[in-house]
Amino acid sequence: MVLPGEVSGLTYTRQMLSVPDHDDAHFMRLALAEARAAAESGEVPVGAVVVKDGRVIATGRNAPIEGLDPTAHAEIVALRGAAQALGNYRLEGCTLYVTLEPCAMCSGAMLHARLARVVFGAADPKTGAAGSVINLFGHEQLNHQTGVQGGVLADEAGELLRGFFKERRVNPHPLREDALRTPDACFADLPGYPWPPHYVSDLPALNGWRMHHLDEGSRQAPITWLCLHGNPAWSYLYRKMIPVFLAGGGRVVAPDLIGFGRSDKPKKESAHTFSWHRQVLLEFIERLDLRNVVLVVQDWGGLLGLTLPMAAPERYLGLLVMNTTLATGEEPLSPGFLAWRTMCAENPAFDVARLFARGNPQMSADECAAYNAPFPDKGHRAALRAFPAMVPEHPDDDGAAISHEAQAFWSSAWTGQSLMAIGQQDPVLGEPVMRALHRSIRRCPEPMLLPQAGHFVQEHGEAIAQAAVSHFSAGAPR
Ligand SMILES: [Zn+2]
Repeated sequence: MVLPGEVSGLTYTRQMLSVPDHDDAHFMRLALAEARAAAESGEVPVGAVVVKDGRVIATGRNAPIEGLDPTAHAEIVALRGAAQALGNYRLEGCTLYVTLEPCAMCSGAMLHARLARVVFGAADPKTGAAGSVINLFGHEQLNHQTGVQGGVLADEAGELLRGFFKERRVNPHPLREDALRTPDACFADLPGYPWPPHYVSDLPALNGWRMHHLDEGSRQAPITWLCLHGNPAWSYLYRKMIPVFLAGGGRVVAPDLIGFGRSDKPKKESAHTFSWHRQVLLEFIERLDLRNVVLVVQDWGGLLGLTLPMAAPERYLGLLVMNTTLATGEEPLSPGFLAWRTMCAENPAFDVARLFARGNPQMSADECAAYNAPFPDKGHRAALRAFPAMVPEHPDDDGAAISHEAQAFWSSAWTGQSLMAIGQQDPVLGEPVMRALHRSIRRCPEPMLLPQAGHFVQEHGEAIAQAAVSHFSAGAPR
């Protein structure tokens, strides 16, 4: 990887084995076009072409992010293409043009392919293996055939890289073309929500989608409260519980699912799938390396979240579960849920603030309005349209099998502490649904009942958070 300002170029002519060719600049321009295409896909801009007998036989651009492939450097892609085109993995008589000095992996591949010549643009003082850090091509024992020419259109190649990294510094989370981003102004001065945003966009599953999360408290805290919201809420839902967790000495991590809160909003409903959201959360937990986690879930936070601990049980010490379920597709969905799904389908523009106001007379108008903040218009609401239909209804629906596995995990393999709180006014995921879930959670004590609370139990969350702090602190490491 090249860092900005470190691409110098033009200093590599002295050690070269081959002589410049008048066509070099021509083919390097083609490689530069590949590099630009890589940049447009959000990849580090490096491009390559392979030429034989004056003809381009293969092209390649850097694509490790898109391909989830650490070996997908431009040169490797081009070498593979050339071998396919020739029907021979030996690329004798071929020249590879690449905009940046090749790394050790790519140089090794070129030597294995018995490439006749490699021509590169900018030097790479970080990982260059054609003279900058090491010179694999200069080893008599390794190399009998590949000539090297550097510095061809080095300034153009270097400028492309510098520009790319500069833009990354100025705008570290560029917006995907198929995404919308709620303006920051929508989130200014929301009541009871003073915490600064944190973003991540470079998880493999995110593929550039910018995901927001809160991260408060010490990283060395004995408990990390991982708070997962559902549809149509966002991390704002935990604002009454977060201060209690923090006062108890804990760390709080509260992500907004993609499509919700301060996270990017896909324009298309089809971007949302159960498996994808689950994968994003798994990678997010890995990236933050969360440990001593008490998983705090409700609604979709539970549908997705309850499937997470079995993937890395050593990270979790507890479960705080509020109105939610595991949708295995084996039981019919509750009449309450079906009514909710129908309401969402028939009124796709329903007022989210009113939904909260209805069950929560204690909330102020500004607090209710904060639930509309992420959705300034219809375009931002694809997740609201997608999620109700995404609940697994049949055993072969996406998410059903993993939910079934999770059920087995909670009933027989879970060794952590659990606490359940039930909002009894919830017509969708209320006490009957929660009693069924309770039976599947090993050693879960008698639930805490909240007669005033509805579906969004967290709006009565202080008492739950206080009970949870005493319940889980006993088992937390010191
Ligand atoms: Zn490489």
